[in-house]
Amino acid sequence: MPITRAEAARLARRTGMQVSDFAVDNNGALTLLNQSSTRACVFLLTESADVNAEGLCSVYEIRPKGCQTYPYVLNEADEAILDQGCPHRSQFPEPPEEMSFTLLNLEERILQEGSND
Ligand code: SF4
Repeated sequence: MPITRAEAARLARRTGMQVSDFAVDNNGALTLLNQSSTRACVFLLTESADVNAEGLCSVYEIRPKGCQTYPYVLNEADEAILDQGCPHRSQFPEPPEEMSFTLLNLEERILQEGSND
């Protein structure tokens, strides 16, 4: 999950972790790391590597914008769609009309930060 530098700073401040403990620079975009044992996000409280396993986000109140908007993602044509990789996508309605704009805006911010380094 790509995150903004401001979101990384907030997560670091609130968890007491170093940014390098939970995110990695992926072609200029900070991206949340996965735990090696479960392959799930480092902030997901789960014991299982099963994608359908129960889990709780330990930073839910301050989770990044990309987490808040998931499972909506952009397709090749920059249209918001439900992520085909999400096992729970059938529980969500089709993307609201403004979702493409929201996701494009977020992507732009993340890419712009990467190009400023
Ligand atoms: S919602 Fe929480 S557990 Fe899920 S990817 Fe975001 S930070 Fe990680």
